[in-house]
Amino acid sequence: MPLIRPDNSTPIPALLKRFVLIYLPIVMVLSIVLLSSIRFDEQRRLERTVERESSRIEIARGLVARDLSVVDTHLRVIANLPLLRWYQDSGNPAQREELAKLFLVLAREARLYDQVRYLDASGQEVISINYNDGKPAIVPREQLQNKSGRYYFNDTIKLKQGEVFVSPLDLNIEQGSLEIPYKPMIRFGTPVFDSAGRKKGVIVLNYFGNELLQHFRVIMQGGDPHSSMLLNHDGYWLSGAKREDEWGFMLGKSERTFGHDFPEEWRAISASERGTLQTAKGLFVYTTVYPLLPGQHSSTGSTLAHAPSQQEMTAHEYSWKIVSFVPHAVLTGAAFYNQPSGRTLLGAVYLLLALAAWTVASVTLNREQARAELARSKACYDELTQRIPVGAYLFRFHADGSMNFEYVSPVFCQMLDLDADAVLRDASIAFAAAHPDDLKSLIRSNQEVAVSLKPFRWEGRFIIRGETRWVHIASDPSPQPGGGSLWSGVVSDITERKQLEDELKRQARIDLLTGLNNRRHFFELAEQELARAKRYGAPLQVLMLDVDHFKLVNDTYGHHIGDLVLQKLSEVCVQTLRGIDILGRIGGEEFAILLPETRGEQALEVAERLRLSIAGAAVPLEQGGSVHLTVSIGVASVVAMDARIDDVLKRADMALYAAKNAGRNRVCG
Ligand code: GH3
Ligand code: MG
Ligand code: MG
Repeated sequence: MPLIRPDNSTPIPALLKRFVLIYLPIVMVLSIVLLSSIRFDEQRRLERTVERESSRIEIARGLVARDLSVVDTHLRVIANLPLLRWYQDSGNPAQREELAKLFLVLAREARLYDQVRYLDASGQEVISINYNDGKPAIVPREQLQNKSGRYYFNDTIKLKQGEVFVSPLDLNIEQGSLEIPYKPMIRFGTPVFDSAGRKKGVIVLNYFGNELLQHFRVIMQGGDPHSSMLLNHDGYWLSGAKREDEWGFMLGKSERTFGHDFPEEWRAISASERGTLQTAKGLFVYTTVYPLLPGQHSSTGSTLAHAPSQQEMTAHEYSWKIVSFVPHAVLTGAAFYNQPSGRTLLGAVYLLLALAAWTVASVTLNREQARAELARSKACYDELTQRIPVGAYLFRFHADGSMNFEYVSPVFCQMLDLDADAVLRDASIAFAAAHPDDLKSLIRSNQEVAVSLKPFRWEGRFIIRGETRWVHIASDPSPQPGGGSLWSGVVSDITERKQLEDELKRQARIDLLTGLNNRRHFFELAEQELARAKRYGAPLQVLMLDVDHFKLVNDTYGHHIGDLVLQKLSEVCVQTLRGIDILGRIGGEEFAILLPETRGEQALEVAERLRLSIAGAAVPLEQGGSVHLTVSIGVASVVAMDARIDDVLKRADMALYAAKNAGRNRVCG
């Protein structure tokens, strides 16, 4: 009988629930670990980026300052040239020519200046060198102009000796309109004085802003994609990520400012000297550049050719911002968790874990179901085995010769009065309950079948609750892989059946009226006695006994009284004879008696004593009085020639016949 009913249908809701219970904590832990390591990684990347961008903008800042200080130096050197002073003092045209040649050398060698000029106090150009795209030339006298209307002249001529004017960085205006291509420009100017200390004019250097911007761009490029910006005081791009955004203030595009695109960020950046700012848009690392050196002045300048500057700017107001902007996507874009392959990998890990969790959920649930099913089956099985009055068990012979019970039913335990746990632990407890006379047979049979694997059938006695009970054990083997065998068996209590059988056997042997051996059984016993006597040469006597005139008793008192007389006779015989003597009723009122170990004369004495006892007995009658009886007895001895008991009985019968003929109530030998 299969104990486990196969049931493959796992309920989906239960499976789902279990899956969630297993998977959810895994996902949570994994996600927490993942998120914190991503946070950590992002932080690390951010720190690295901040570090890199900070050093980058610091280098850029230093470079800008150096570029501008070089110009400042050139300007001061020219302003202090003795030749210049001599010329101012003398107005000698030859000295002007020499001065112009010197200016030309500077323009050619420095390659920093679009124009190198000397203007007199009225704003008239006196010497002017044009760079001419790398072919510097002295502007002919007739082409020199008066620049008295320009802000750079007016802002410079006001200055004291040694002071320098620096214009805002803007685009060059030529003949009243923007020079194309754009020519970023900073004008440096300083007043010059003659030997008497009179202000005679100004030196103006038109510095190529592009030089500075190129340096800036070279320094700021490279590494992660990022935007490097150089912003002026108002947030206009001097150098930006997009060229079309640059120079908004010169082109009338007042909205093309950093502050317009990044209002929040601009508020913070413009309010602080340097720092790092992280917003929803990304990371901003910035610093401030002050192009003006001590002793330098500036104005707001003017985008119109002849307009004056609006106001003077202090060194603090003349400031640029260097901003490095790294968008959010770029910050961690290179991290594996932001790469498609990394995300696919993570997805695969989650998926694999889900699969594993599903498998575990399914396996454990199935196992639990099987266990529950097994428990249910066992309960059914126990229920069933309790209803059937046989004890069931499973018994295992191991390959190494040991053995144990694997299962014992409640009825088994109850029937043999055994404790289930104890007998499952130690099978010998069950054997110990066997009747001492039957224990050997039980063990032997058990050992035999362990080898032969033949069905085990055994009947025997057990001592149960102090009482001898017959049990029948039937068990059949199934050989086990790897040796040993598993036996499923049943034990039944057959005590009642045994008793019935014994009674039937007894009844088959005895005469129901007298309780003596019946004729058939007497002859069996007699043959055995004869054989035994002959084997040992022991004497054996046979008595034949017949009731005298028994017919008369029946006729006189009835058959019933006749029966009582026969019973009385048997009683007297049993009482008179020894235990080893064998009595049998071999005919209606004929009896035979064997006297083992008895010689002839002794047998005659026994017969005589028996005759007298019978004669002395009486069967009382209901109506009063009693019936007396006598018997005639023939005695014969077994001799060597007797092959069968019949031979002796014949002689005893002849003696009996003689006793009858001699008048009855006597013994004849
Ligand atoms: P004798 O002295 O010659 O032996 O005379 P008898 O009457 O005893 O001899 P007989 O053989 O003629 O009679 C035997 C009688 O025993 C006949 C029969 O009815 C009676 N008898 C045999 N078996 C039984 C029995 O089981 N019960 C009773 N009541 N009578 C029986
Ligand atoms: Mg007779
Ligand atoms: Mg008789």
